[in-house]
Amino acid sequence: MRFQVDLHTHTVACSHAYSTLGEYVEQAVDTGIAMFATTDHGPTLADAPHKWHFSNLTVVPRIIRNVAVLRGIEANITEDGALDIEDYIREKLDIVLAALHSNYTPTNEKEHTRLLIKVIESGKVDVLAHPGARLYPIDYEEVLACAKEHNVAIEINASTSVNARFGSHDNCVKIAKIAARLGNAVSLGSDAHIASFLGCFDESIKVLEDAGLGYENVINTSPAKVLDFLESRGHAPIKEMREYFTPFQ
Ligand SMILES: [Zn+2]
Ligand SMILES: [Zn+2]
Repeated sequence: MRFQVDLHTHTVACSHAYSTLGEYVEQAVDTGIAMFATTDHGPTLADAPHKWHFSNLTVVPRIIRNVAVLRGIEANITEDGALDIEDYIREKLDIVLAALHSNYTPTNEKEHTRLLIKVIESGKVDVLAHPGARLYPIDYEEVLACAKEHNVAIEINASTSVNARFGSHDNCVKIAKIAARLGNAVSLGSDAHIASFLGCFDESIKVLEDAGLGYENVINTSPAKVLDFLESRGHAPIKEMREYFTPFQ
């Protein structure tokens, strides 16, 4: 099957990405993507947008040229196990991804695990982005059990071992196997830094296949499933998207 939803993308708001939001919409129209999340990096990274980028995402229409655009962030996890975005801004967003990034120098598996558990338990994160990153080893069993308990999705990232985080494919397969056993919600993200990569999930699909993980727990199989998941996380229903997608269900 083809996935019509991509829950992880970056725009020129980060200077290490190369397409505008409009170009992503155009790409979505051209390739049959029905919904995507714009999730630029939280303000701590050196070339990340100012926090106003996120607070002003409310100007982005819910549906543009028949494509649903979720207002999101890929927040950075701090050394205290917090997020680098204030609550009053985070609460305006539709989807919050979080990950360990270069703002945090790797320490050890125990400490990385502690930070991820803290972030999951905070209730502020919907999706743990690229948990298979080789640079930041974690205890997969412990993190996925906690994510399952708190209804936080685990991302199988399609750029990992393709565009970034090389050598992490086997880690992603290990994670997907545990997700299959525990029944974690799984989110697919291209982590596109250019519009042409939107919805390119070849690596994610390979990980799912290598792990024997079916699509039942993958939230991206339809826009409605994504909306169900976000509402189950406590986000307010997005009326315009619900109305738009209802006839297609
Ligand atoms: Zn990332
Ligand atoms: Zn990213």
